[in-house]
Amino acid sequence: MASQLRNGMLLLSPHLLSRNVVDSGGAVHRCPICCRGYSNARSLEYHKKMHAGLTTCALCGKVTSKVEHLRRHLEHVHKLTQQDIRSIVPTRNKARPPARLV
Ligand SMILES: [Zn+2]
Ligand SMILES: [Zn+2]
Repeated sequence: MASQLRNGMLLLSPHLLSRNVVDSGGAVHRCPICCRGYSNARSLEYHKKMHAGLTTCALCGKVTSKVEHLRRHLEHVHKLTQQDIRSIVPTRNKARPPARLV
């Protein structure tokens, strides 16, 4: 029993391996276009919309990092109504979770 404990000393503690490393190659979701790494899939999905041109302002060409930011940009900078914004910024493939009742 004593010798088994000595062997156990060589194992790394699990919590040492689960560090939140993003910058040093620890990111698991990587953009195939620009190779930028993201720690979670949702951030990468937002980022991919940028490459798809979905976050580019049709009026002034400004590129935002998120579709959400573009909507805000259209609203505050170009003074568009929500209806106009909806017609410019497509809201397809937006799977809304059913539990999210406001
Ligand atoms: Zn990218
Ligand atoms: Zn604009």
